[in-house]
Amino acid sequence: MRRISIFGATGSVGTNGIDLIRRAGGAEAFHVVALTAGRNIERLASSAREMRAEIAVTAHEELLDDLRARLEGSGVEAAAGPAALVEAAARPADWVLSAIVGAAGLAPGLTALAQGGVLALANKESLVCAGPLMRAAADRNGTKILPVDSEHSAIFQALGSESRDSVKHVTITASGGAFRDWPLERLAAATVAEASTHPNWAMGQRITIDSASMFNKAMEVIETHEFFDLEAERIKVLLHPESIIHAMVTHVDGGTIAHLGAPDMRHAIGYALNWPERAPLPVAALDLAKTGSLTFREPDETRWPALRLAREVMAAGGMAGAVFNAAKEQALDDFIANRIGFVQMAPRVEAVLETLSGQAGFADPPADLDMVLHWDRIARQEAAA
Ligand code: NAD
Ligand code: MG
Repeated sequence: MRRISIFGATGSVGTNGIDLIRRAGGAEAFHVVALTAGRNIERLASSAREMRAEIAVTAHEELLDDLRARLEGSGVEAAAGPAALVEAAARPADWVLSAIVGAAGLAPGLTALAQGGVLALANKESLVCAGPLMRAAADRNGTKILPVDSEHSAIFQALGSESRDSVKHVTITASGGAFRDWPLERLAAATVAEASTHPNWAMGQRITIDSASMFNKAMEVIETHEFFDLEAERIKVLLHPESIIHAMVTHVDGGTIAHLGAPDMRHAIGYALNWPERAPLPVAALDLAKTGSLTFREPDETRWPALRLAREVMAAGGMAGAVFNAAKEQALDDFIANRIGFVQMAPRVEAVLETLSGQAGFADPPADLDMVLHWDRIARQEAAA
């Protein structure tokens, strides 16, 4: 039986993953090793019972007793805390879904990469913070990293067996998020509730707000750079309000291969689950006659300065990705807590990058997890409102 683990099992990606596992036979068809969560103990315990997991882990030590109580009599082990997350990631598994949100996914993801098999990677933050470390760990252990982000799964599929040398450039699309068509002068007053809606995708709150600011697309540009080893010049972003084309690969011979699909994450998760085969998934097929037209626009960098920052981060290299991500996470925390406004997030991240770029070690490539966590910590301190 295939051994699987899901990190961030209670989130938007995680529950879609559980849904696919359930449809594919659940505990009868898979040996579920570890399921983990942050604070949603109720959902974690019920999924762990249903999937007969070996172990269920919450990131928060104070929730251990509650988790234990909910798992009583189930035979599922309970554990808590960041060290327990890493211990769970060290348990042998053939397929691991990395779907924690934020840099908190880095340590378990890196540990899981030592297991061989497949790491299905939704946690783009770990590639942005520590792409070279992730790639080296995968190479060292013969682990295959598969993208679980619609754009990157699309590039992966459109690329097929073609080498990166055949790629003229790739294009990832962006819906434009909640504020695509707002007058610029209204953005300063945008509320958390307004930023937390998405025109096409149902996702966790943080990535939904990051879609409105395009920090998500900025992260995805860096993710593309790290994942496919493509220079910044070969990565383009195109505004595509319908979210039907997820990415396109333009080859040196002028041919462009696009990947189209309904905006449903179960495609990218299911593709990674079934890879290298394909199997039916509960994803609606496209009806393009009904869609009618697909439209495209150049993204406006006055509205979305995060896109410019992504290029600066790639040009700087070293710890810029870790600093960018951490400053963004802190700015997002501060926006969600109403400490800063929507349009203050990008200038704050830019200021942190500028300040920390003068410090010794900023330009060095990530040597190990501790180094990344160090820069993550100081960037958050620097960014805090
Ligand atoms: P979410 O907020 O819905 O879920 C996050 C999961 O991580 C939950 O299980 C939560 O309990 C857990 N978690 C939160 N903080 C944690 C911490 N400090 N330590 C350990 N666990 C913690 O997020 P999501 O929308 O499912 O996104 C998950 C990841 O997938 C993110 O990296 C996101 O960028 C990426 N992603 C999501 C989507 C989507 O459709 N939601 C699409 C592409 C990529
Ligand atoms: Mg995406």
